[in-house]
Amino acid sequence: MKRLEEKVAIITGAARGIGFTIADVLAENGATSVIIDLDQEAVDLAVQQIDDKGNKAIGLAADVTNTEGIASVFKEINEKLGKIDILINNAGITKDGLLMKMKESDWDAVINVNLKGTFICTQKVCRYMMKKRSGAILNIASVIGLMGNAGQANYAASKGGIIALTKSSAKEFASRNIRVNAIAPGFIQTEMTDKLPQEIIDNYAAAIPLARMGTAKDVADLCLFLVSEEAGYITGQTIQVDGGLIM
Ligand code: NAP
Repeated sequence: MKRLEEKVAIITGAARGIGFTIADVLAENGATSVIIDLDQEAVDLAVQQIDDKGNKAIGLAADVTNTEGIASVFKEINEKLGKIDILINNAGITKDGLLMKMKESDWDAVINVNLKGTFICTQKVCRYMMKKRSGAILNIASVIGLMGNAGQANYAASKGGIIALTKSSAKEFASRNIRVNAIAPGFIQTEMTDKLPQEIIDNYAAAIPLARMGTAKDVADLCLFLVSEEAGYITGQTIQVDGGLIM
């Protein structure tokens, strides 16, 4: 029997990058991965890739900042698949700039998607998990939420907020056997980091004790552990996957 056999896992922002790899790894381990992302075509393509391997996935286009949209998509998933066991809050954006010059609209956009989107999805999923008295929620934070970064005040605040939200929701939901944890990835190679100048990429890599950028699979493997039965006594934690960048 596979580790996540018969589990239903929703992953937000999963059409590409870390989210897609998480959906792929969970499906490889027996789960039905539900891919949520903005663009229907990208969602369909991601589902197709998992399907081609003989694993289970479905996809729905939705915006994590749209409260009614998320409520109705989660209702549809619960009706179609009978339950929701796992939520991975992965959707995230960056809009970098020095604080002194940061546009309020860039501050709002990042806080809205990263932090409020995590709140909305958690609030809309918890009723289904509370009813069946079990569930695992995993929030994708960032080492930037722990250490800060010049030029990323909005992103750092959103990820620091996610870590605090993780602890509060873990305390609220523990009595219903719902665990909430966070992962703080370091510097992971995806389209989000590919757009950085090579010099910045090289500087980061030089500061990492394990001397390489992380992969989406590095993050997805920890994710698999944290949502599985083997992590049944772990809640409220933020675990770094960063090659030792911060210790
Ligand atoms: P990515 O390649 O940019 O993928 C993010 C995905 O989220 C995209 O498919 C994007 O859709 C989707 N998305 C954006 N806004 C959304 C919304 N409002 N509703 C639903 N989906 C939305 O990013 P990534 O590098 O895989 O990062 C994934 C997560 O890991 C993020 O939370 C990020 O902050 C975190 N993280 C990444 C790194 C890293 O080094 N890459 C490090 C630490 C933490 P569109 O393509 O249509 O915009």
